[in-house]
Amino acid sequence: RAKEAGRGTYRFFASEMNEKILGRRKLEAELWQGLERREFTLDFQPRYDTRSMRVRRAEALLRWRHPTRGLVSPSEFIPLAEETGLIVPIGEWVMRAACAAAARWPEIGVSVNVSAVQMRDDQLAAVVADALLSSGLEPSRLEIEITESVLIEDADRARAVMLELKALGVRLAMDDFGTGYSSLGYLRSFPFDAIKIDRRFVADLGPRGEARAIVQAILGLGRALGLTVTAEGVETPEQLMLLRVDSCDEVQGFYLARPLSEPDLLGLLTGGQAPELRSASGGARG
Ligand code: C2E
Ligand code: MG
Ligand code: MG
Ligand code: MG
Repeated sequence: RAKEAGRGTYRFFASEMNEKILGRRKLEAELWQGLERREFTLDFQPRYDTRSMRVRRAEALLRWRHPTRGLVSPSEFIPLAEETGLIVPIGEWVMRAACAAAARWPEIGVSVNVSAVQMRDDQLAAVVADALLSSGLEPSRLEIEITESVLIEDADRARAVMLELKALGVRLAMDDFGTGYSSLGYLRSFPFDAIKIDRRFVADLGPRGEARAIVQAILGLGRALGLTVTAEGVETPEQLMLLRVDSCDEVQGFYLARPLSEPDLLGLLTGGQAPELRSASGGARG
């Protein structure tokens, strides 16, 4: 009986696995199609200078408008795009679209996420150079966000690619800082201009407690190494207030602004401050 049950279980798992594989293959095919059919778009989330509370740059965030599934979140398709290598052509589209958009904006810069797989592509710097050239965007207005995992997997290669990118004149930021394993000293051996404090530390931020101590330590490190420090995931006025008190350079999060379509971003830039922002900066001052 046990044997029978075991076989049944096996059959159950096998069919479930088939379904999973089929589902993934379908999604993979749809990703290709999505690229061809221009189903990808970018939203832009404003990042504010903490002192002036003005928008300094915007982070490009990839969105997939699937014809039947609707809006698919990057956390659902980016891992598969990375495994299949599709992130390389998708990432190239993102880079070109983000540079072209930023070239239309007044002054503010753009920040583009680049994953570990893209960092291993030896065409990356050439693609970035071409995106800058064809859009006419000043290189200093482009920032590239890289996660810590890139540095751990193949540090020498990552450093070489980063130096190629720096030679183009773009800024480099470490994304989700604090979630990986790289030590603070290790950070110094890479040509970063900025670090982004992961939102898990920001989420736990209170006047007392560990999260604030961690944020203050990262800010101290950033200052010592001459890096711009951004806090991401700012959701409450209290978090904003503490980050201002501790002199964090830049803030980004739902409390200030959600990721926006390009027209909405431009509306926010030209129409002055967003309503949320007015109350946010007013609240922090008062
Ligand atoms: P990330 O680079 O750390 O981007 C920040 C994520 O946090 C975004 O999620 C953003 O919408 C979200 N976020 C912003 N403010 C808040 C907040 O106040 N609270 C909370 N809970 N979340 C906030 P999104 O757009 O779903 O992107 C998820 C991740 O997907 C990104 O994390 C990035 O790693 C990746 N990604 C997005 N676009 C691209 C892309 O074009 N290329 C690559 N390679 N990766 C991308
Ligand atoms: Mg990012
Ligand atoms: Mg991040
Ligand atoms: Mg992330």
